Amino acid sequence: MTTPSTDPAATDGTDGWGFATRAIHVGQEPEPVTGAVTVPVFQTSTFAQEGVGKHKGYEYARTGNPTRTALERALASLEEAQAGIAFASGLAAEDAILRMLAPGQHVLMGNDAYGGTFRLISTVFAKAGIGWSAHDLTDLSDLQANWPAETAMVWVETPTNPLLSVVDIAAIAEIAHRNDALLVVDNTFASPYLQTPLRYGADIVVHSTTKYIGGHSDVVGGFVATNSADIETHLRYIANAVGAIGGPWDAYLTLRGAKTLALRMERHCENAAAVVELLQGHDAVASVLYPGLENHPGHAVAARQMRGFGGMVSFRANGGQERATAIAESTKLFTLAESLGAVESLIEHPGVMTHASAAGSPLEVPDDLLRLSVGVEDSADIVADLKQALDRTI
Ligand SMILES: *Cc1c(COP(=O)(O)O)cnc(C)c1O
Repeated sequence: MTTPSTDPAATDGTDGWGFATRAIHVGQEPEPVTGAVTVPVFQTSTFAQEGVGKHKGYEYARTGNPTRTALERALASLEEAQAGIAFASGLAAEDAILRMLAPGQHVLMGNDAYGGTFRLISTVFAKAGIGWSAHDLTDLSDLQANWPAETAMVWVETPTNPLLSVVDIAAIAEIAHRNDALLVVDNTFASPYLQTPLRYGADIVVHSTTKYIGGHSDVVGGFVATNSADIETHLRYIANAVGAIGGPWDAYLTLRGAKTLALRMERHCENAAAVVELLQGHDAVASVLYPGLENHPGHAVAARQMRGFGGMVSFRANGGQERATAIAESTKLFTLAESLGAVESLIEHPGVMTHASAAGSPLEVPDDLLRLSVGVEDSADIVADLKQALDRTI
């Protein structure tokens, strides 16, 4: 894996620092009054003003809070962005982005988008007059010919959830821009350590920081990064006007998680590779979906736009839903749970657990599919756990 080294677009005084250094230092200078090395939790709703309308940059904590500002500066730097705005959840961040659209405009999304994204667009925004359609974005050959009129935004995830398909960000950015649409990339599955979509032409990057960035299953949050001053202005306006901001404790926990993102992602990738090797050789497994495999249809694109292949692995069980369910219920270290991207290994059955609402929709997933979020435990232990679960079902 090649480590993301210097930030070619750095304009924030980071002096060409590498990723891990930026994660620990950008926005996190020692606190000027006391010298506290860690950014404090500014648990306050309001800020004293020196004179009428004269303040130190903070007035009311919905509009701005110093702990949140530190998080926004650090994460913007990791995405190589000029600006970043933190929200209360990934979906709150998505909501703020989608509010850029006007009734009659259209969102074109991938056909295996995150279920919550699909629900937000196809129910909440559809009711507000926003059109949508779902396409297979792994094959862009006939997208231009089938381009929906009024498309103002293209919404991409890569790798996707839970099928781990790969979308060529540079290629879809080119098509979106040719059609005067903005490109949004949900970078939750890769994390900025493995993929920086702004480099490939994305206009907006969105994260559920609940996943890899927070990394410890203890906080829910969202983040948006952009290099456009107009988009930043819109998002800050929505963050303040609608108020779906995270609290200072959430910002503190997310920032604490982000400091070790580089270390964790290296380990997630290593452990995922070990798990993939086990799965590939096992009789209980019909096929393995992982962008790091040379036979994965998106492997070449992933190798180009990602620095490692990530910690998410999906596979199809030999023997349908019954075998899949038995495997998911037989692991001991892999916890049977939704969510992903944290230190502990998780296993889930998307068809029943996270993607049940997609049944009958373009986002429906096979019923023999299992998704693993491979954690950062000792590799031998998680491989042994998965092996005993697979063996038991034979
Ligand atoms: C979890 C997730 C979201 C939604 O984020 P929340 O923090 O749960 O609101 C969006 N996109 C992807 C890919 C996710 O995994």
